[in-house]
Amino acid sequence: MKKLKLEIELTYDDELMHSGDSDPQSKAWFTREVLLKEEGGLILHSNEIGDEVGEVRVLSISNVEEGAKGRLQRASARYVERMGHECPFCGSREVESSDNYASDQDWIRVPTHCWRCCFEWTEVYLLSRIAIHNKDVEALPSEL
Ligand SMILES: [Zn+2]
Repeated sequence: MKKLKLEIELTYDDELMHSGDSDPQSKAWFTREVLLKEEGGLILHSNEIGDEVGEVRVLSISNVEEGAKGRLQRASARYVERMGHECPFCGSREVESSDNYASDQDWIRVPTHCWRCCFEWTEVYLLSRIAIHNKDVEALPSEL
């Protein structure tokens, strides 16, 4: 018997295997009993030879999707830190916010678009106060 160290990426139906992320116990069971089980856990099968190639022992697990989420969170934080102005994905200043904004209670959502990389995102504003022009103060209704 020969032992090789492989780096593999597993794509599987997480909803079918452990109800996605909705059932942490089921997900823990899947990780412990299916992926990490020391003996007879995972079998590498080849459709090419129509047979089992050998037994796989999982050495480490990382979540590729969480990596993408992390990158998105960093891009979002950088965008907010720079007060917008630059596309969070490609850095272009050719970004345009739509006049077609939506609001619900005190949140205002503005669809925004990058003309270079064509990514689209939504700027979310919290309405905290208003500022009025000095010339309008005299026109305020007296009952306010
Ligand atoms: Zn861009």
